[in-house]
Amino acid sequence: MVRYDADVLVIGGGIIGLSTAYAITRAAPGTRVTVLEKEQGPARHQTGRNSGVIHSGIYYPPGSLKAAFAVQGSAEMVKFCAEYDIPHEVTGKLIVATERAELPRLHGLAQRARQHGIPVRELGPAQISAYEPAVRGRAGLHVGTTGICDYGAVSRQLASLAQDAGTSVRYGAQVSVIGRRATAVAVRTAAGEVLRARALVNCAGLHSDRVARLAGDDPGMRIIPFRGEYYELRPERTDLVRGLVYPVPDPAFPFLGVHLTRGIDGGVHIGPNAVPALAKEGYGWLTVHPRELAATLAYPGSWQIARRHWKYGVGELYRSLSRRAFTRAVRRLLPDVTAEDLIPAPAGVRAQALLPDGTLVDDFLFKESPRMVHVLNAPSPAATASLAIGREVARRSLKHL
Ligand SMILES: Cc1cc2nc3c(=O)[nH]c(=O)nc-3n(C[C@H](O)[C@H](O)[C@H](O)COP(=O)(O)OP(=O)(O)OC[C@H]3O[C@@H](n4cnc5c(N)ncnc54)[C@H](O)[C@@H]3O)c2cc1C
Repeated sequence: MVRYDADVLVIGGGIIGLSTAYAITRAAPGTRVTVLEKEQGPARHQTGRNSGVIHSGIYYPPGSLKAAFAVQGSAEMVKFCAEYDIPHEVTGKLIVATERAELPRLHGLAQRARQHGIPVRELGPAQISAYEPAVRGRAGLHVGTTGICDYGAVSRQLASLAQDAGTSVRYGAQVSVIGRRATAVAVRTAAGEVLRARALVNCAGLHSDRVARLAGDDPGMRIIPFRGEYYELRPERTDLVRGLVYPVPDPAFPFLGVHLTRGIDGGVHIGPNAVPALAKEGYGWLTVHPRELAATLAYPGSWQIARRHWKYGVGELYRSLSRRAFTRAVRRLLPDVTAEDLIPAPAGVRAQALLPDGTLVDDFLFKESPRMVHVLNAPSPAATASLAIGREVARRSLKHL
């Protein structure tokens, strides 16, 4: 007879893994859950290195998982933060069109917001100044339900709630081998420990494709790491930005463009851009992981996307290497900013799923196989939507018990 160490093993102590563990303990009390996280604490990768924005759900097409989970998830996230005294604020945000060509897309976003029941107000240039005196644009859209919070603190709270309900959260536990039998899954950690469970959930973020392959499943995609670099306004200049200011996103990309974010700490962050990282945890140009880089280069999707979007990519690389070029791009929204006002801030790396034909997967992506659930694409707004995503992954994993 197999002896199980847990009913469900969750790989990854980011916000999705922890929210999943929490949701399992709520949906099926008594289920024994163990979370295995390779770092020494929670939220050390995407979850702890993002813009900290609670997205309203305005961008996502009706019918998509992103729309469903973000619209519901943003309201829930605000409630969760309020309930557990986690720093947060519903600030609202401005989306600003700086060029004529962006006007129809901005109007399209207003229509989509109304479909989702999100309160928005269309603005002319003078009304933009009323919200944000230093920002210039041809037209704007004010979104009422956007907010900010500390996702690291949310993750710590989720871990503590799950632990109170009996979950074991183990840090410094990197899963390096996965085996599957008809009645059980087993993992071996880098330290040599073996754990057996009835089901396994892969919430490994930047490494989710590798973990799926370790489990013997073909994920049908590859994670391409896109670094997002940030600057912050030096303290004497933070009065340039009152709240959150976004450009109109380019529909060809799942990224929202360089935005201005007054964070929960009062500082103003500017970014992130999107440059290919040379390692999955490549937080700077000097971090190169030859094996991961070779795998990215050998993947047909990488060449397809490079061929299609090389012009955009060259622009992003230039703005990454030159602070003056980055400043010029920001000045479209914020004309008074100078290169001297910008101080480099820590970067984040997005886990973006790419298909072999070069398509960037836009929606959240889950895949199931016997005794396993893989979360293969959980980019922004997954932190916003994490409570709803956690419930969905919990529901799927409980079916395998
Ligand atoms: C620059 C940037 C800005 C963003 N801005 C926003 C925003 O404003 N609002 C928003 O809603 N979303 C935002 N996002 C997206 C959001 O941060 C992510 O969607 C979310 O954090 C994903 O959480 P996760 O748990 O899937 O991944 P992660 O937080 O990356 O967690 C995965 C965890 O798995 C662990 N792991 C990996 N492999 C193993 C292994 N073999 N064994 C054990 N552990 C392993 C890792 O150490 C990591 O801790 C942003 C992301 C980035 C990068």
